[in-house]
Amino acid sequence: MASIPCPHCEQKTFGWWHKYLTGKWAVLQCKQCAGRVCAQPIVLAALYFFYVWDVVLFGYLAYLDSLWYLLAMVVGWLILDYFSVYVPLTPLRSAGGSTSSDEPPSSANPKQNA
Ligand SMILES: [Zn+2]
Repeated sequence: MASIPCPHCEQKTFGWWHKYLTGKWAVLQCKQCAGRVCAQPIVLAALYFFYVWDVVLFGYLAYLDSLWYLLAMVVGWLILDYFSVYVPLTPLRSAGGSTSSDEPPSSANPKQNA
């Protein structure tokens, strides 16, 4: 299930569903090191350009010509969703704003301190 390594601690703590969620701009927290992780935002922004292009192009064609273009829009959307799973993960700094992203945040994680 969990087969994708965390960019902070290199432990395989993320699964493909997590990867799909990061493709929807979700920010995840590693179970192992509590480091925050998201998808590489520049790659994701480029991918979302294609989502907009997909909706605008096929939406316009559906308006002009045939409603079958809405089906092409859905297929294009699913293809983009497929690629969104392969956007690489990138580490985020901890919520407390500490300088190093590699150290597990000791103060920002109440579960470990309790
Ligand atoms: Zn981790």
